[in-house]
Amino acid sequence: MKRIGVLTSGGDAPGMNAALRAVVRRGIYAGFEVVGIVHGYAGLLAKDARPLGLSSVGDIIHRGGTILRTGRSDEFKTEAGLARAIANAAELGLDGLVVIGGDGSYRGAAELEKRGLPVVGIPGTIDNDIYGTELTIGFDTAVNTVLDAINKIRDTAFSHERTFIIEVMGRVSGHIALAAGLAGGAESILVPEFPPDYDEVCARLQHSRARGKRHSIIVVAEGVGSGFQIGEEIKRRTGLETRTTVLGYIQRGGTPSAVDRTLATRMGAHAVDALARGEHGVCIGIRGSDLLTMPLAEVIGKQRALDRELYELAATLAI
Ligand code: ADP
Repeated sequence: MKRIGVLTSGGDAPGMNAALRAVVRRGIYAGFEVVGIVHGYAGLLAKDARPLGLSSVGDIIHRGGTILRTGRSDEFKTEAGLARAIANAAELGLDGLVVIGGDGSYRGAAELEKRGLPVVGIPGTIDNDIYGTELTIGFDTAVNTVLDAINKIRDTAFSHERTFIIEVMGRVSGHIALAAGLAGGAESILVPEFPPDYDEVCARLQHSRARGKRHSIIVVAEGVGSGFQIGEEIKRRTGLETRTTVLGYIQRGGTPSAVDRTLATRMGAHAVDALARGEHGVCIGIRGSDLLTMPLAEVIGKQRALDRELYELAATLAI
């Protein structure tokens, strides 16, 4: 193996640049040439690639987003698109490819692997929803961003004695909502994994009002429904004034936390080392403090379960 490609794909996540830096520097250290593919799989279809030297990834470890840009491509998913991607990878002289992205990007990587291109996946998504790994790159930063917002909203919730609904990202998974809600002391956390019980949410609100608490924070993952509608529903049932804030894309951006930079750096190097020893068709994960490789086929299409114990702990502390 002489030349490896690297791309970032799907939703961007803080720490992708740190992973990229590690892939490039560890790759060169291991004797590879490293080529960056721009715009994810769309760039592979367009043969949009550039060599990445040691200094090309200088001064990016602290930057959110991805300097390689990211992309989504429906054409890539087709048989013809995949065949062209494989042909282009051969023309670019790629002996292997590192894909940094989420579940969709992993599916694409698995298709490339099936067609003969050795691939290794790195989990880059704020959602923390990749099966088999306890953490994905970007999650910690996103949770801290939400936490910062909760802290600020708490100030005004206290001053105006109001109930605030904070809608966070997570269409199918409530990992961000749970982690930020727990660390932010939310009164209720609503996640797509468990059907919301509005009777309980409202009873908890009324109970805490009765014991003198005059403001509340409720964190809602977007997959549960619109924060505005949930706010209206709570107002209708309790008569309490509610305000809703939808955090949106600020959760994707910003300088990566120390946790994400370290995770990305370790995973980037681990991916290169896997390719160097001839291990591919795999993705990188972390359990405890240990990095591991797992077959892509065993990871894709599975949902990482929400930690029910943490969910129940948050509920018991918000009595
Ligand atoms: P993420 O990686 O963040 O989950 P997406 O789901 O948008 O993001 O996937 C990124 C890209 O991966 C898609 O635009 C598509 O090109 C490719 N991809 C997704 N699913 C498949 C699939 N089943 N087969 C081949 N490629 C896929």
